[in-house]
Amino acid sequence: MSKPNKTELTKYKAILEKQLASLKGDVGSMRDEARRASDQDASVDHLADQGPDNYDQGFRLGLIENEEETIKLIEEALDRIKGNGDWDFGVCPLCQEEIENAKKPGKDGKKPKPAKATDIWIPKARLEYLPWARYCVRHQETEERNREIA
Ligand SMILES: [Zn+2]
Repeated sequence: MSKPNKTELTKYKAILEKQLASLKGDVGSMRDEARRASDQDASVDHLADQGPDNYDQGFRLGLIENEEETIKLIEEALDRIKGNGDWDFGVCPLCQEEIENAKKPGKDGKKPKPAKATDIWIPKARLEYLPWARYCVRHQETEERNREIA
């Protein structure tokens, strides 16, 4: 695995921008729908009628939240491509950390844990499919597990 070259970066950037535009459009129209639905809810006083509508409403808001999360990830990835991100585009910062830590001796003088990561670059197959990925698959899973526990 290696650093994405210029051609690849241009390609990822195009995918990211296209995806961003379509998500922003989606979120806009979903918001409109959600707003319309809540206007209707307000005009209906029968409690029995509110159940399914509220369920729909929650579902819609959940979708909006997911899409907004993805929009944030895409914007961060675009910043990384432009060189304004927190790390280089295509790098898994957690692999980088692992490799760095493996080079330093541990605080207690013991040998550091050997890194499982062999390089810092996220595989191209993953970036083609998910150019806004922040981490490699292994670290993505670790992150998601941590988030569930938190
Ligand atoms: Zn990683």
